[in-house]
Amino acid sequence: MRIVYEPRHRRHQPRTEILYGKPLAHPERPERVEAVRAVLERTRWAEDVIGPQAYPLALAERVHEAAYLVHLRERCAEAASAGPADEWFPYVWPRDRGMDTGTPLQGETLDLAWGAACVALTGADLLLGGERGVYALCRPPGHHAAAGALGGYCYFNNAALAADRLLATPQPGQGGSVAVLDLDIHHGNGTQDIFYATDRVLYCSIHGEPEWGYPPHTGFVEETGCGSGQGFTFNQPLPEGTQWPAYAGALDQALERIARFGPRFVVLSQGYDTFEGDRWGGFLLHAEHYALIGERLRALGCPVLALLEGGYEPANIAAGSLALLDGLA
Ligand SMILES: [Zn+2]
Repeated sequence: MRIVYEPRHRRHQPRTEILYGKPLAHPERPERVEAVRAVLERTRWAEDVIGPQAYPLALAERVHEAAYLVHLRERCAEAASAGPADEWFPYVWPRDRGMDTGTPLQGETLDLAWGAACVALTGADLLLGGERGVYALCRPPGHHAAAGALGGYCYFNNAALAADRLLATPQPGQGGSVAVLDLDIHHGNGTQDIFYATDRVLYCSIHGEPEWGYPPHTGFVEETGCGSGQGFTFNQPLPEGTQWPAYAGALDQALERIARFGPRFVVLSQGYDTFEGDRWGGFLLHAEHYALIGERLRALGCPVLALLEGGYEPANIAAGSLALLDGLA
């Protein structure tokens, strides 16, 4: 196993989330990843931690609209010129390319969010180089970012960029497909959208029902793909209070779909907001369950790139990460 960590993520410090008109101290904090790093340092994983490679921002256009990149660049510049303490929020959604008021832009946001994408791309290249398992400590997360819109604390879709890289580099004698398994408690609307019309990526998600979870408008069972992608999106929304036995049943169904699909690689969007007690959660998983997730994924026999998505209690992210690594290894 390799673990990719980018220290520059610490400079990404969104300050405010506006929740139903009220300002809230932003929960997507550097401590989320630093807690993982600190716990890894005391384990056998310490020597497996490496830094990311640099990739040109132009690669973002493999997944995102060029106009979205222009938008990010211009709004970040506006925030920077307004002052170091300034944050830019979307106001009118279609023009401002934002799904919510929880995902502010600061002067450095574009650059630092691309840093997280580079962590994911490095992970993809490690798999292409023969590594069987990689854990990419991406921050900010990515699975809510769509081709042309930010949201849910996400700016670039790290999982989609990694899956695209794995797809775009065919190897002789092997199929060219990738499965994305999204186990954040929130539906990965961005990843689903990006791959909705293709049969080369199977997107499977287990998440809180949109009736009580975020986002409220996507992640329904009826969303199954379109065009040649029909049948290649598989959503399993679960009720609030879901515990391991029901979760494991859904996981087995997703893994069975993935096994039938027969991908060359699996990208795991792993959130720890499924951990009991998460402020944005609602499921009741515990550390040992992330080890079981890792074991079941390993049993597929495919190389796995696990990416950090959400989870807002640093101690739980650290405990869950350690368990996931043990399971995957
Ligand atoms: Zn989440």
